[in-house]
Amino acid sequence: MHIADRLLKTPPYPFAELARLKAEARAEGRDLVDFGIGDPDQPTPDHIVAALCDAARDPITHQYDETGKGLPEFRQAVASWYQSRFGVSLNPDTEVLRLIGAKEGIAHLAWAILNPGDVALIPDPGYPVYKVASMFAGADLHFMPLSEASGYLPDLSAIPADIVRRAKLMYLCYPNMPTGAVAEAEFFRRAIEFAAANDILICLDMAYSELYYDGCRPQSMLQADGARERVIEIHSLSKTYNMTGWRIGFAVGNPEALNALEKLKSNVDSGAFLAIQRAAVAALTGPQDCVEKMRGIYQRRRDILIKGLAGIGWRVPKPKATCYVWAPVPKGYTSAQMAETLLRGAGVLATPGSAYGSCGEGYVRFSLTVQGGNAEARIAEAVKRIKEKVRVNT
Ligand code: PLP
Repeated sequence: MHIADRLLKTPPYPFAELARLKAEARAEGRDLVDFGIGDPDQPTPDHIVAALCDAARDPITHQYDETGKGLPEFRQAVASWYQSRFGVSLNPDTEVLRLIGAKEGIAHLAWAILNPGDVALIPDPGYPVYKVASMFAGADLHFMPLSEASGYLPDLSAIPADIVRRAKLMYLCYPNMPTGAVAEAEFFRRAIEFAAANDILICLDMAYSELYYDGCRPQSMLQADGARERVIEIHSLSKTYNMTGWRIGFAVGNPEALNALEKLKSNVDSGAFLAIQRAAVAALTGPQDCVEKMRGIYQRRRDILIKGLAGIGWRVPKPKATCYVWAPVPKGYTSAQMAETLLRGAGVLATPGSAYGSCGEGYVRFSLTVQGGNAEARIAEAVKRIKEKVRVNT
């Protein structure tokens, strides 16, 4: 079989490898505490499931989604949510586009914006899709290092001038996966200025905008002056409403970029199941106490894990947002060695930071979406096993 070079050059999707390791451990009969992939263990709220059931009984939803940018009521719901959540008013006809999940939009955007030889600016560490999609589009990659010392914000002035000249698309992600950092308005202002001066489109991935703690509520870039000319923001219902399997998200912002993405999508997909879009309307416009409750759940898990690890000599900063804990590995381990030691020694599954880029080396990521029920007890169990089996203090 002939397989395209672009695919042969692509490493396996990191979570596919994690799924393999997990299956292997389970086949050996080992009990794993699973801090691997960020897939909410809580169910989708009842009122959203009920809305899907109702919508699925309406035969009109069984047909192709020929709405272009998405069901009008879905786009209106997104615009209303944006207004109440961020104080940003969007035109639902031109500034909102439904996606089949954030991943789909992030990936297809690279094809819509980048020519071969253009440069994509990519945060390191970062969601692997930014890199792979840009590579598939034939673009050159420039990684922007994110470090704890700089609050996990890229230093835009450190990007070489010849790279800036060729750059057409910059991916950013705040609240940040995998580090849990948030960005303030001042950084957004500088990034927009940089993008405007250099004719670059910013794609801000906000998949975790609603998972925040201690009152640290993330803002939208579109609140800043001049943002609409330069920015699109990508959202997902996956983490906000525990809807990962439903595959629904949206992009908002610059109409020209959204039109390009819509044109590309119309050639490769046929929209999203209309019943799911109706259920998404119920999610965005219905009671939001489920989101508040979910934040509380992750916050408690975060605190149990961080306090537990500190108690055994592993000091880890508290993330302000997301469902991830970004833990510096103790001296003497690489990320991969630490993840392997946790897995084989203690039956604790965490992702090596190096899976998110070379600047992720020196970290492991714990997802607070612990599978298998009674997550708080499972986290305590993980800490106990780590204490017994893994050297964590320096
Ligand atoms: N962006 C980031 C940073 C993510 O971590 C993920 C999923 O884990 C996504 C986007 C994809 O979200 P969706 O389920 O909407 O495709």
